[in-house]
Amino acid sequence: MTIPTLPLNNGTSIPQLGFGVFRVDPAETERIVSDALEVGYRHIDTAAIYGNEEGVGRAIAASGIPRDELWITTKLWNGDQTDASAAIDRSLTKLGLDAVDLYLIHWPVPSQDTYVQAWTSLVEIANSGRAKAIGVSNFLVPHLQRIIDETGVTPAVNQIELHVDFQQTELRAFHAEHGIATEDWYPLGGGTLNDSAELTAIAEAHGVTPAQAILRWHLQLGDIVIPKSNHRERMAENIDVFGFELTDAELTTIAGLDQGDSGRRGGHPLQVGA
Ligand code: NDP
Repeated sequence: MTIPTLPLNNGTSIPQLGFGVFRVDPAETERIVSDALEVGYRHIDTAAIYGNEEGVGRAIAASGIPRDELWITTKLWNGDQTDASAAIDRSLTKLGLDAVDLYLIHWPVPSQDTYVQAWTSLVEIANSGRAKAIGVSNFLVPHLQRIIDETGVTPAVNQIELHVDFQQTELRAFHAEHGIATEDWYPLGGGTLNDSAELTAIAEAHGVTPAQAILRWHLQLGDIVIPKSNHRERMAENIDVFGFELTDAELTTIAGLDQGDSGRRGGHPLQVGA
């Protein structure tokens, strides 16, 4: 299984499909990530706040997979925005790594107004070699514009909530204009999107599951996508999405499922951490 990569604005290339570990029990993480690596995932998305970086690190070490064949992302938690350098050192110790491939500011938390300071620290962290690429998560256009204006450094990635009923067209357009890769969290809508009649029909036309059709849509948008599953058979299902292609008509049908802002299921970037 070869997963395509996407070039980022700092010259690195990220595997377009990865494995997310939000809400993966720390006690189960080593086994679950080991399963994901065996199934063929080479990109793992964790965060300090998930509490499972140690399990991810143990799975990486046990896998024997060369470090340069893996892509590891972790994230700076909100309370650590004024001391990102110490926070990434803690994450690296837990992961058992010298560097991550991508370090993200998890939420902007505009009410605490420290995200520009945090972004300046991430630039220094990248210069020190502790993160190969740096980016943000859950940033809205004004937050992106401000860090670009104040530091002159454009994030490589903005990891945002994005699924078929919340397609984020305005934010994606800003990303495209500025060379920021869009990384989609909650890509399967937490597994709740599979019942849609349109998606079921599209999946049947290709002999795949609705989850596979949805993940194929994320890939054909040109986004990075990081589905999560505790189950090995679903891990295998979710990575087996490179043998078919959605048609333009199917892409148009899925575009019609967008509910705009009312499709948001997770926290609002102006409210989380406030
Ligand atoms: P997903 O959209 O990936 O949904 C995961 C859920 O869908 C799980 O309940 C899983 O169940 C189920 N599922 C997985 N595969 C299938 C399938 N093939 N068929 C049916 N159901 C399926 O949501 P997440 O919230 O986990 O998002 C993915 C990743 O994004 C996270 O793990 C995390 O890394 C990242 N994320 C980032 C955020 C941020 O603020 N930056 C916020 C939220 C997520 P089961 O496990 O039982 O198989």
